Amino acid sequence: MKNANHIYLDHAATTKPYPEVVSLFTKLETEHYGNSSSIHGLGIDALSYLNKARALVLKSLCLGSNYKVIFTSGATEANNLAILGYCLKHQSRGKHIITSKIEHPSVLECFKYLETLGFDVTYLNVNRYGVVEVDSLKKAMRKDTILVSLMSTNNEIGSINNIEELSKVVHENPKAVFHSDTTQSIGKDHLNFSSIDMFVISGHKIHGLKGSGCLVLKDKISLQERVFGGGQEDGLRSGTVPVSLCCSLAKALEIIYQKMSIETQHISKIYQQFLDKIRNMEGIELNSNSAGSKYILNFSLLNKKASVVVEALSNLGIYVSSVSACHSKKEASSYVVKALGKNENLAHNTIRLSFGEDNSENDADVFASTLIKVMETIR
Ligand code: PMP
Repeated sequence: MKNANHIYLDHAATTKPYPEVVSLFTKLETEHYGNSSSIHGLGIDALSYLNKARALVLKSLCLGSNYKVIFTSGATEANNLAILGYCLKHQSRGKHIITSKIEHPSVLECFKYLETLGFDVTYLNVNRYGVVEVDSLKKAMRKDTILVSLMSTNNEIGSINNIEELSKVVHENPKAVFHSDTTQSIGKDHLNFSSIDMFVISGHKIHGLKGSGCLVLKDKISLQERVFGGGQEDGLRSGTVPVSLCCSLAKALEIIYQKMSIETQHISKIYQQFLDKIRNMEGIELNSNSAGSKYILNFSLLNKKASVVVEALSNLGIYVSSVSACHSKKEASSYVVKALGKNENLAHNTIRLSFGEDNSENDADVFASTLIKVMETIR
């Protein structure tokens, strides 16, 4: 997996697919290319692969038949389907919904859209570590709250919410369901999935393929469809099902959970090495907290422009990210870092390192010495 010419520290943006995933995808696209809705042999063959993929997703997550899997193009679409699909279907039960200020845009933009439709939204603050306090959720819950959406691991700073405790608060109201954007936790952090009513997976974050993902939800939950047409995916997402992508997602999920205990130990070591190198460097302020994910380490530059540093590092073969890949082109400042109570300059100049299995212990030394050189040379 390692490319000798560069050091890749942007795994929260995307990951390199496992070779097994690519070969499975190629095999299915060349030999098992039937439409899973066709009733002839090749269609039945494709359908059986699709059914196996669905079952493998649930098995890898240790979930039973009280959950269902809706395949999507990734986590953005799955978050949209869950939030919009639930709120639009069940708005007669209540129009109050809750999320936090540091959610991914694929969640926040759904809430903003629902506001335009007359929903009343509470955007919860986070504490200085980027965590939603259970008490603040308790205070925000109302009789007419129908949905709460809180991410498990934040994609910019790696803060981790106490999903189990938050879900208990939500479920004190029998009308409310709990959705979580679990994109950055899948295969990385231990989560009690059965405490969550709806959660999402993105294939390309777990060494699967871009364009693959799914929504996992409790079987009894009904949603309004988002894509109208032939009624595929339980009537929620019409269109010919990309069976090979679905199978590639299930394969990536199976592999990442098989490797999880070894990988998390490896990543914890890498994280510690980077942290040791960075925390005492001049001109740097950490935004991540060691209670958070060991896959993400975020800091701000006090006197340098992050975009210039990212470019200079890139020219030397070190790939890191500033703000987050999802909105770094249109928005130069991090609303997540601002939500921690930090000033505009710090929010403007964040660097995110995100680790993966291809990182080695040597990478921290190379990164730190290169960063020091870069900071000395640029103005
Ligand atoms: N949620 C989070 C927390 C993410 O990090 C991302 C990817 N940046 C997404 C949602 C969207 O994932 P996808 O690229 O699969 O649409």
